[in-house]
Amino acid sequence: MKNDKSIPPEPEGFDMNICKLVEEFQSEEKCREYLEGLRWPKGVECPRCHSKEIARVKERDQFNCNACQYQFSATSGTIFHDSHLSLWKWFLATYMMLEAKKGVSALQLKRTLAVSYKTAWYLCHRIRNALREQNPLPLRGTVEVDETWIGGKARGRGRGYKRNKVIVAGAVQREGALRLQLIGHADRKTLHRFIHQSTAPDTEAIYTDEWPAYRSIADHDTRHETVNHKAEQWVNGKVHTNTIENVWSLLKRSIIGAYHKVSVKHLDSYLDELEFRYNNRKNEWAFRDALLKLVSAEKLTYEQLTNGKSKKTSDGAKNAPRHKTALSQAGN
Ligand SMILES: [Zn+2]
Repeated sequence: MKNDKSIPPEPEGFDMNICKLVEEFQSEEKCREYLEGLRWPKGVECPRCHSKEIARVKERDQFNCNACQYQFSATSGTIFHDSHLSLWKWFLATYMMLEAKKGVSALQLKRTLAVSYKTAWYLCHRIRNALREQNPLPLRGTVEVDETWIGGKARGRGRGYKRNKVIVAGAVQREGALRLQLIGHADRKTLHRFIHQSTAPDTEAIYTDEWPAYRSIADHDTRHETVNHKAEQWVNGKVHTNTIENVWSLLKRSIIGAYHKVSVKHLDSYLDELEFRYNNRKNEWAFRDALLKLVSAEKLTYEQLTNGKSKKTSDGAKNAPRHKTALSQAGN
């Protein structure tokens, strides 16, 4: 029976599939155990006093700290805790979000999980927020940079700000990671700042199109080469921006296909989701790593979300509000 060619190989680069998900996480108990292992890989620890003298209160899924008497559970203090949603629904939603190349809409989750639209919407946002890369490593090697307009008609660069549109800047390392950011203007200052924030100082090469704002990005250890799209030149030897162009088409298809309409206010969280999916495309532990991020994530209340004050903009000291410029420009 070995090497039966009729059986398709497991999809590469993903540690989870729907059958495994049902087998391994069909009960609250199993999900809870898994989260416990992720949260305390070296044994349960009191979140309050960090003591490891813990008594397990099995029938209530709780722990009792012998040192400070604090009672807690595997989900205490995590985004799962105040949620009325079963853990397996969180797991399933996370799986669906990672697995769908073009993303999952709140409407789709509403149907699959049999929850209200509001619950599904809030769930999506909390997952995306948790998936956000907190300390992204700088890109190096060969990096493609481009920017695109989202909302309204196809890309119309250089025609000034348009109220119903926002601009997304993207940088992608060849065979490497992706960084996306909402920007207010596609001007030289903004794009140069984005490139300096996303790439290492000794990045070998930066490939862009001929947009003048990218000029002079080169320095003594970084080449800058361009392809001239206006002259229908798409590839010039190794110089092209096809990788980042592919990301744009993925982003646009997901906005049209899965989300139908993305409000400007929440676009940054869709970018976080896309980034996570892209940057973990070869990570065979993507599902585990996503849950690890969820169990370690800061809470995000419904009010923070709907007031447009997500965690990342409310505590500016810790995380600079990376999308603030564009969000205020967009006027909602
Ligand atoms: Zn304690």
